[in-house]
Amino acid sequence: MLVVMKGDATEAQVQAVIREIEKMGYRGVPIPGAQRTAVCIIGNKGSVEDSQLLSLGGVKETIRVTKPYKLVGREAQPEPTVIAIGDVKIGGEEPVIMAGPCAVESEEQALTIARLVKKYGVQVFRGGAFKPRTSPYSFQGLGEEGLKILEEVRKETGLLIITEAIDHTNIGIVEQYADIIQIGARNMQNYSLLRAAGHASKPILLKRSFAATIDELLMSAEYIMSEGNAQVILCERGIRTFADNTRNTLDLSAIPSIKEVSHLPIVVDPSHATGRREYVIPLSKGAIAVGADGLLVEVHHDPLHALSDGMQSLYPEQFGELMKEIKISRIRIVDT
Ligand code: PEP
Ligand code: MN
Repeated sequence: MLVVMKGDATEAQVQAVIREIEKMGYRGVPIPGAQRTAVCIIGNKGSVEDSQLLSLGGVKETIRVTKPYKLVGREAQPEPTVIAIGDVKIGGEEPVIMAGPCAVESEEQALTIARLVKKYGVQVFRGGAFKPRTSPYSFQGLGEEGLKILEEVRKETGLLIITEAIDHTNIGIVEQYADIIQIGARNMQNYSLLRAAGHASKPILLKRSFAATIDELLMSAEYIMSEGNAQVILCERGIRTFADNTRNTLDLSAIPSIKEVSHLPIVVDPSHATGRREYVIPLSKGAIAVGADGLLVEVHHDPLHALSDGMQSLYPEQFGELMKEIKISRIRIVDT
C-alpha cells in the first residue's frame, strides 16, 4: 500500500506516517516526487488496515499496489527516475553511452581504449575487473589490480567508471573504485549480492538474466531498493531463445514494457545481446529508437587479441560511426 501525502505535507507529517506504519509492524519507505511524497508500506503479507493512517495530518489518500513489486513501480512514483552522477544524467533527455572493453587486461590496454572512446564523446568507461565467466578456465579478470587501473583511467580521462561486482564479498571493494556498480546477468538473482547492493552508496546497473521475465528483473531491482538504494539502472542484454543467429536475442520490447510499469531508467547492451560486432550498430539504433536511456557497448583497440568477447567488441572507428549514427537517428526521432 502507498500512503500518498498532500502536496503541502510537511516532513514532520511524513515522519509521523512512517512511525505509525512501524507501530503496525511494517516498514515505511518515503518516495519523494515532483508533486507529492508517497510512503510505501513494505513487509505486509496481506492487506493493511488504513483508517488510522488516513486520519493523520497531511495524508491525502491510500492506494493499494496491484503489482508484486512496489518501490520500482510507477504506482509508487509516476515520474521517471533520473540518476545524476556529476554532469551525467541517466534517464534524462539524452541517452548516456557507456563503452570500453569487456575486461580490463592491462593499464596500457585500458588507457588506450579509454582515450579513443573519450575522443568520440563517451561519458562512462566500462571494463570488468572481476569477470563472471561461464568456464572456470577462461580469463577471470585482474581483480583489485584491474580496479586500480580503472582509477587511473578516471584520473587521466575524467570519465566515469562502471565495473562489475560478482558477489557480496567483493562489492565493498568495487564500490570504492566504481562510479556505477554493475551486477551481471548471471547474478540477477544472487540475493545476497542484491541485498549488499542495496546498502551501497553508488548507483547499481542491474542486468536482466538471459532467462528472466520482466517481472523477475523488476523484483530483483526491488531487492536493491527495499534495502535503501534507490539508484537503480536496468539493462536489457538479450535473452535466450531458439534463435541461433545471435549469441542471445535482444528483447527490444522490454524497453517500452518496462517504461510502462517502472520509473527506473533502462539501458541496452547490444554487445552481449548479439555476440557479433556487425550487429551492434543497427541494434544500438533500434534501442535508442524504442526509448532506451543509454547503451553499454564493448569496444577494443585490438579485438582479435582481446582476452574476452573480442568477436562482439567494436573497433574504435566503428564506435565513432555508432556515435555519429545515434546522433543522426536522435535528430530524426526528435523531428518527427
Ligand atoms: C559484462 O557486461 O561484462 C557481462 C559479463 O555481461 P552479462 O552479465 O550481460 O553477460
Ligand atoms: Mn563481455
